[in-house]
Amino acid sequence: MSNPIRRRIEEINRRVTEAQQAGLYFYLQPLEELDGAWVTANGRRMLNFASYSYLSLLGHPKIEAAAHKAVARYGTGTHGVRILAGSLPLHEELEETIARFKNAEAAIAYSSGYVTNLATISSLVGRGDVVICDKYDHASIVDGCLLSGAKFVRFPHNDMAALEQRLQQADPQAGKLVVVDAVFSMDGDIINLPEVSRLCRQYGAMLMVDEAHSLGVLGETGRGIEEHFGLEQAIDVKMGTLSKTIPSVGGYVAGSRELITYLKHTARGFVFSAALPPAQAAAACASFEVMEEEPERVKKLHRNVELFLNGLKALGFNTLNSETPIVPIICGEDERAYRMTRLCQEENIFVLPVISPAVPAGLARLRATVTTAHTEADIAYALEVFEKAGREVGLI
Ligand SMILES: *Cc1c(COP(=O)(O)O)cnc(C)c1O
Repeated sequence: MSNPIRRRIEEINRRVTEAQQAGLYFYLQPLEELDGAWVTANGRRMLNFASYSYLSLLGHPKIEAAAHKAVARYGTGTHGVRILAGSLPLHEELEETIARFKNAEAAIAYSSGYVTNLATISSLVGRGDVVICDKYDHASIVDGCLLSGAKFVRFPHNDMAALEQRLQQADPQAGKLVVVDAVFSMDGDIINLPEVSRLCRQYGAMLMVDEAHSLGVLGETGRGIEEHFGLEQAIDVKMGTLSKTIPSVGGYVAGSRELITYLKHTARGFVFSAALPPAQAAAACASFEVMEEEPERVKKLHRNVELFLNGLKALGFNTLNSETPIVPIICGEDERAYRMTRLCQEENIFVLPVISPAVPAGLARLRATVTTAHTEADIAYALEVFEKAGREVGLI
């Protein structure tokens, strides 16, 4: 009898090979150059509409200088875990900077955003507790919930009546944690934070919000979702990544001093995994400073989002409820998303398709992102290309 593990491996390999043979495979493309709004792949220079460097900080001279200086001083690694011999002054400086930027007492930095969700959620809740998530929460949140062993409950996307019902149904004795994305990574819409935080208070639940796509994006100065809604005290566990707007790698949680002390001694992805390399910690730290020193970057991003979204809507594309730099262009069937992608890339617009199971079947899409580096002319050109491709595949 053949081993089912081998069959699973064969099945994925078959799908990848088929897509490659049909010329419809777009993943894992090596990018030879990243240069502001531009990207070079397969020797072709294209306008990048697939970047999460929302404020276009990648390549910023101050950030690169900080990374070089850290390597010269400390080398390329840390040899160990923070709790024993791996902590550097750079890590403390980074955590203080994050806490200040997020208006919190303290912060903890982990080695990736994925690890941050896994380690934080599984250290906060366990057997006997309940963790409640939006159906569209990121995979790293789902994995953290499953790892925790807590009762894992989900509510339909951004449906506040359903969230209230889940809170009512939870065992009154159980520890309750609600975890949501601030900006949803596939749809680009924003969580109803005022209502989520009101419900969490009413039912005595702690609230954790993942700001992977809202740090540097939401709010007048890019401080995130609290600034967007004018709700400073709404969130207990303020999670974010250092790999998107911040051009480094790593993740963080900001919150009360007690919460951070607890995580630094119990979160297994922190206690049992090596510290961030010096260059990455220094680059992340400098990035927060640049965001404060160059507020015009956030303003330009907001203008670009408006231009791009309004343009797509005027052409008749379905962009769901996006109001952020993540703009889904709904194509329907996978095949149509692939064809749209190919037509756009042929016209030097670098954009990628997302298909099921990452998004519901029948809602395959291009996931286009707009950044600070795009000029008005770049956006106008992209709209032209999307229009032509959309007509060719019969979307508009
Ligand atoms: C990207 C992402 C993460 C993971 O962050 P990494 O730093 O890439 O590991 C977590 N949550 C959301 C919502 C994300 O989009």
